[in-house]
Formats: sequence, structure tokens, C-alpha cells
Amino acid sequence: MSVAFADVRAAAERIAGIAHRTPVLTSRTADARTGARLFFKAEPLQRAGAFKFRGACNAIAALDPARRRRGVIAFSSGNHAQAIAYAGALQGVPTVIVMPHDAPAMKVAATRGYGAEIVPYDRYREDREALTRQLAQERGLTLIPPYDHPDVIAGQGTAVMELLEETGALDMVLVCLGGGGLLAGSALAARALAPDCEIWGVEPEAGNDGQQSLAKGEIVRIPVPVSIADGALTTHLGQHTFPIIQREVAGIATVSDAQLAAAMRFFVERMKLVVEPTGCLAAAAAFEGVVPVADKRVGIVLSGGNVDPAALARHLAA
Ligand SMILES: *Cc1c(COP(=O)(O)O)cnc(C)c1O
Repeated sequence: MSVAFADVRAAAERIAGIAHRTPVLTSRTADARTGARLFFKAEPLQRAGAFKFRGACNAIAALDPARRRRGVIAFSSGNHAQAIAYAGALQGVPTVIVMPHDAPAMKVAATRGYGAEIVPYDRYREDREALTRQLAQERGLTLIPPYDHPDVIAGQGTAVMELLEETGALDMVLVCLGGGGLLAGSALAARALAPDCEIWGVEPEAGNDGQQSLAKGEIVRIPVPVSIADGALTTHLGQHTFPIIQREVAGIATVSDAQLAAAMRFFVERMKLVVEPTGCLAAAAAFEGVVPVADKRVGIVLSGGNVDPAALARHLAA
């Protein structure tokens, strides 16, 4: 099953009234610094604090009544878990989340708070996908993966669809990249609504599997990367996301942890917005000149804002 822009439109209708239509922010300081006109799509203000609510909401809303009754299961280092838990709670669907035992405390607490059952695992020793599949089969739960699923990709695409509806045509869209659900969905929306727009993905320097995959023309797998971008510690792109990324994306750039921390400081100081490290990937690429944005109208997805206050303080102080 492949995904197309029509699926993004359908997702937008399904999640209307459940997901927030988040604001598009601008900053004269950021524009002056980059020589570009930047439009920030503020997904830290999305429900559950990240764009992942869009895909989760769409995937759950698309289930038939029998599957809804039995419930859904997901594996996630954080934001997808919260998104599934909250989207399930809002739609009356039971949720089970398989989470790394060392996931950020705030994310674990939030997920449990939305009513999900949490099953912990060791991210360096256990195969979370195998564990999740086994639980799904034993309990008749429907597995909703964090990025490699047509309904998830379509849901994630609604953020850039809304952005373009508001800004009109853009020269470039920069998107944070983990497993590629957000980038693939964004690419479908941008290609349909602004055909000449260049689409870029930005991933952590320590985990540039996406960049390697584009260069090699096939999905490259890497060991679990170490980065403060805890929402993008994926080891490979997906079967569904890679072909769309390969077809539509102009390039994939990388940024360092220090560059992410500098971007976080900018958003807190200048725009009064808490953006988590992963959520700063795309913006950091623009701020640091890693992607050539000068003289262009550029859309930037700030993908999420879930960061422990203690970790936030550390990044701001560094
Ligand atoms: C999951 C996540 C990403 C990466 O999304 P993919 O669809 O896996 O590429 C980026 N930013 C935040 C805040 C996330 O939670």
C-alpha cells in the first residue's frame, strides 16, 4: 500500500477537531541572521507536545470497530507513545506502550498519565519490534509503528499541509528526520501544494543513516546513535518512508548536538518557545547555514517540545 497526497487530505479531515491547528511563527531576528524569510510551524504546541499526535490520531481513527475494541500497541522512545496514549484515550481505544527503560522520565510519566499500560524493555539488548509483535499477537492488539505506516505518514503530512495553506508557496521546507514519517508526509504535502518547493531532511550528525541511505540508493542500517536528539535515535528509514524520501527530497543535512542546544536557547530567549532537541534539527540547519536558505522563503517544522525541565536547564546553561 503506497501513500499519496489524497491520503494526507483524508487524514486532515479525520483529525480535524481532535488535533490542534498549530500556529505559524516568524522572527525578525532569525530572518536577519539567516538572510531568509523563515516560517516556523510550532508543533511543540500540538496536543501531547509533538506532531506525532497527528499520525497517531489518524491511524487510530482509521481502525474498524472490532480493532478499536481490542486496542492498539506501540513501541516508542517517547513522543509516539504519548501521542498514541492520548489519541487512544480521546477516542476510547485502550493502549499498550512498549518503552525503553531509560526513556526520559517526563515522557514515561505523561504516557502513563494518559492511561496507557507501559511495558519496559532494554533498548541496547532487546529487540523491541519482536517483543511488541509477540504482545500484539497474544492480546489481539493492532500495532501502530512510530513512522513506517501509511496512515501515520499521511497524518504527519498534515502539519506541512497546514503550513503551506497559511504561507502560500515556499522555496524550501526543512523537516526533522528520524525514521522519516514526518519527512515523507511533508514531502507529499509540499510536492502537491508547492510543486517547486525543495524539501530537505535534517538528522543528528551522530546518526546520519538517512544521508547514507540517499547516497547509497538503499536503506542503510546503523547502530543506535548517541545524541541529545532522543526523538531521532532511529537506526534506519522505513520501507514506506524511504521510497517517498528518495523520490521527493532534495537532500539530507546533519547538525551537531552543540548546534541543537544553541537553537534551543534561541527559541527560549527570543521566541519564548520550548523546543526539544529533536525538534530543533531543521531550525539548526537553517541557523548554522548547513542548508542554503539565504534569500528564500523557508518553512521549518519545529517538531516537538517535550523535554524534562532539568535537561532543558542543562542545555540552556551549556
Ligand atoms: C519522532 C520525532 C521526530 C522524527 O520523526 P520521524 O517521523 O521518525 O522521522 C522528530 N522530532 C520529534 C520531536 C519527534 O518526536
